[in-house]
Amino acid sequence: MSEQNTFDFIIVGAGSAGCILANRLSECSKFSVLLLEDGGSNKSPWIKIPAGFAKTYYSTKHNYCYYTEPQAQMLNRKIYAPRGRGLGGSGAINAMVYVRGHRDDFDDWQKAGAAGWGFDDVLPYFKKIESHPLGDNFYHSTKGNIGITNMQKEAHPICQNFISACVENGMRINHDFNGEEICGVGIYEANISNGQRSSSASTYLNKAKKRRNLVIRTHVKVKRILFQDTQAVGVSASIKDQQIRYFANKEVILAAGAIDSPKLLQLSGVGEADDLKKLGINIVKNLPSVGKNLQDHVCSSYIFETRVKTLNDDFKGFYKKAKLGFRYLMTRGGPLSISVNQAGGFVNTRLNTARPNIQLYFNPLSYQYEPNASGLVKPLPHSGVMLSYSPCRPNSRGSVTLSSSDHRSAALIQPNYLSSDDDVIDIIQGAKFVAKLSQSVAFRGVFTASASNNLSGKSDLDLLQQFKERGGSIYHLCGTCAIGLNDKNSVVGASLKVHGLESLRVVDASVFPNIVSGNINATTMMVAEKGADHIIRDYK
Ligand SMILES: Cc1cc2nc3c(=O)[nH]c(=O)nc-3n(C[C@H](O)[C@H](O)[C@H](O)COP(=O)(O)OP(=O)(O)OC[C@H]3O[C@@H](n4cnc5c(N)ncnc54)[C@H](O)[C@@H]3O)c2cc1C
Repeated sequence: MSEQNTFDFIIVGAGSAGCILANRLSECSKFSVLLLEDGGSNKSPWIKIPAGFAKTYYSTKHNYCYYTEPQAQMLNRKIYAPRGRGLGGSGAINAMVYVRGHRDDFDDWQKAGAAGWGFDDVLPYFKKIESHPLGDNFYHSTKGNIGITNMQKEAHPICQNFISACVENGMRINHDFNGEEICGVGIYEANISNGQRSSSASTYLNKAKKRRNLVIRTHVKVKRILFQDTQAVGVSASIKDQQIRYFANKEVILAAGAIDSPKLLQLSGVGEADDLKKLGINIVKNLPSVGKNLQDHVCSSYIFETRVKTLNDDFKGFYKKAKLGFRYLMTRGGPLSISVNQAGGFVNTRLNTARPNIQLYFNPLSYQYEPNASGLVKPLPHSGVMLSYSPCRPNSRGSVTLSSSDHRSAALIQPNYLSSDDDVIDIIQGAKFVAKLSQSVAFRGVFTASASNNLSGKSDLDLLQQFKERGGSIYHLCGTCAIGLNDKNSVVGASLKVHGLESLRVVDASVFPNIVSGNINATTMMVAEKGADHIIRDYK
């Protein structure tokens, strides 16, 4: 029997957004849905165990391991840009910090032309995602698929020193970054349930995968969208060396993420016409905003050696690691059951407003990002912690463009980090705030004398130089197929349909008009829930 190749909906990419779309669209039994994923089924225990982050960070099996183009403002360094591959996408390899962003972020989306995407509009979809430990209230719900854990119970005791240091420096304690206010310091929530990663693949897709009207195909790389005039009618793809076409009666939905969704549009002849013509690509629609408006959060981490024991000590040697593994297997508890980004917060270092400019992360573990021989991110040999910061709403804008017309070539990722003066000010402000925290009474006697980490007594220029040498991405790439009013300044309209084309939408982190103030996975999943609602409404 030949394989079915025509469906109502074809979803390209089974990441954070794609798995939610597959669930919601296949809930309606009259729709047939095909979910195509380039990577594999991601059954590895490293995906399920929260601490497996250290293992998948450089794993080409689970991760595209992209790099940006050389960054002019960061000493021409190419910056690592991991992107998840396989069921769950980046949501299967991320650090699970669960933050929605500031309410004004969404009101700004609305102002940018995303009608119906203001905070009051998106809150019901945020609630629809989650099963939240604070119960059902104005901001939260217990009925969603994604399990949220407050890491308080398992957080390392040294996180309390960090919290006290922040309070000493004027921050208030915040028990719920996704509630009334985002500013303040506390233990982060994470999308973890019963000690396991709670991703859109492990929840939404798992629940839907037995439905007869949903077909999931892994190891299928979509090469381009097939058009009849301006209507998307299917996709062409490759399975190893075999070429295959799938057809859509209703729609093709791109959910391949902020790098690969614009790349697929461009390969298919939708983008800046002059650029595509140079690569010999036939133009379907001149849509210059495709791939533009790339945004990301940059980040810098400072390591402090400590006199007190941290997770570095718990992870030292075979016997201790085996003990942690045993504890995890028996109780689903202990350090393997939570994110390493245990504490953090949001602060405005410029003005005393409720809208932050800096996000903080505190890890009770110090590690190097270079992998060791087994491909793991390597904990350092001495006791230590890591204090990191990231400006919340950068103004730098970049692009994703094709490197060639061959779908196997990775796209050129040009974020233009630090190309805005405002972003440079935030970089310096963030470093100064971390310096102040490190000198707090709360850390006195905790950090060793050698641990001033080159932060104290530095000029603004020195701090900036340090950032250029060591700063990187915190992997929140978004914005490359932004929602907006028209095809001059954006790629999709408010219902996520691509401007000027029929039967084609983009539903993933690409559609953010502006990056939100915190980590972006929750917002990506909200986009998928709301996007699914738009699609279902159009066909019911
Ligand atoms: C290492 C890391 C840590 C992070 N930490 C956090 C965090 O702690 N908190 C947070 O909120 N956010 C975090 N993020 C960001 C967040 O996970 C992502 O922004 C989010 O998952 C993006 O979702 P998406 O659906 O847009 O794309 P993805 O989840 O990346 O999904 C895209 C999918 O499309 C597939 N695909 C791509 N091209 C093709 C093709 N041609 N054919 C078929 N399939 C294709 C990919 O394999 C992938 O499965 C992190 C990201 C990374 C990489």
